[in-house]
Amino acid sequence: MESYSESQKQLARPYRKAVLRALLFITLVSGLLFFVLNTSRGNYPLAYVELGMALYSVFILWAIRRTAHLERWILAYTLPFFTAMMFALLSPRATATVFAWVLLVPILSHLLMGRRLGLAVSLFFMSVAAIIFFAKNRHDPELMEVLPIANITIMSMCILVFSHIYEITREQSESRLLKMAQTDPLTGLANRARLEDVFEREKRRSLRHGTPLSILLLDLDHFKKVNDDFGHEAGDMALRHVSDLLRRSLRATDLAARLGGEEFALILSDTTEEQSLAVAEKIRQAIAATPFHYYHSSITLTVSGGISEYQRDGDDLLTLLSHADRAMYHAKAQGRNRMVHASALRDEWIKRRHHR
Ligand code: GH3
Ligand code: MG
Ligand code: MG
Repeated sequence: MESYSESQKQLARPYRKAVLRALLFITLVSGLLFFVLNTSRGNYPLAYVELGMALYSVFILWAIRRTAHLERWILAYTLPFFTAMMFALLSPRATATVFAWVLLVPILSHLLMGRRLGLAVSLFFMSVAAIIFFAKNRHDPELMEVLPIANITIMSMCILVFSHIYEITREQSESRLLKMAQTDPLTGLANRARLEDVFEREKRRSLRHGTPLSILLLDLDHFKKVNDDFGHEAGDMALRHVSDLLRRSLRATDLAARLGGEEFALILSDTTEEQSLAVAEKIRQAIAATPFHYYHSSITLTVSGGISEYQRDGDDLLTLLSHADRAMYHAKAQGRNRMVHASALRDEWIKRRHHR
């Protein structure tokens, strides 16, 4: 199964955008303030760096209004921002208190870039800051004592570790919730929300590489009878049994979802018409050949299915499902326990028109 990273990235976007926006407002205001303060103290290089960052934050605020590339803008802002911070530390007139700003680095990096990149960026800039601190203050006997150094180091490490742990647990609970929201609780298969997500991704892949993409819709035959004859519990077990068979017969790149009731939809990527018919046939045979056991009864299930193909039958999931549905009803009408490709329906329709 594919990872949840793309959806998770999307989920994190509004949250990261809010953090970035707050940071931009703060740097805009404080940048202007420090520009005035540094100008009045005659520290012109730093004053213009501060002014530059304030103007840059206005530009970024404008740029991120409706961007699809928030991650890039985050890097485009934070890397110069942290660099400007290092520049401020280097400034000969900057006091030792300026180093307090460095504590923002691990917090902002983790909130804005996630645990991996956040940790790497934090470690880099915190190390640079430490080198500047020792280079600058090596002759200051008050700061070169064990106690002040231990204070600063432990405090920095605490903030780094807590930011990192916070981000790890946040990402984990996010991905757990996402997984829950996209899973059918009875069978553990994907649900419709995930099907839509994966279809959009596979559609883009198909357009990029020019590979075929098919949808297979399945509906169990006479399923009402299983419930009527053996009870609802047996019906639920049958649904789980079929789901296990579906999972086993798919490639890692395919996705099986339960649409609801006893209906399933499969996304078959990079699969031509003949191949998708072969997959459908394999699934049909596997289900028909594997009865499931309920107490002392052995219950044989069969399934009917319809296949539609992206671009040939439609460009969106809804249209493709409706074409697959029509083909599936055709399979039911022909006696069930069979698979029909939407293109076969079309060929038949053309043939009939020809005969008239
Ligand atoms: P057909 O071959 O035409 O598809 O006949 P069918 O009986 O499968 O079709 P129909 O749509 O008439 O009935 C579907 C039945 O599936 C209705 C209901 O009893 C059963 N069903 C739907 N969802 C569930 C479920 O979550 N659990 C159980 N146990 N049964 C379900
Ligand atoms: Mg049905
Ligand atoms: Mg049915």
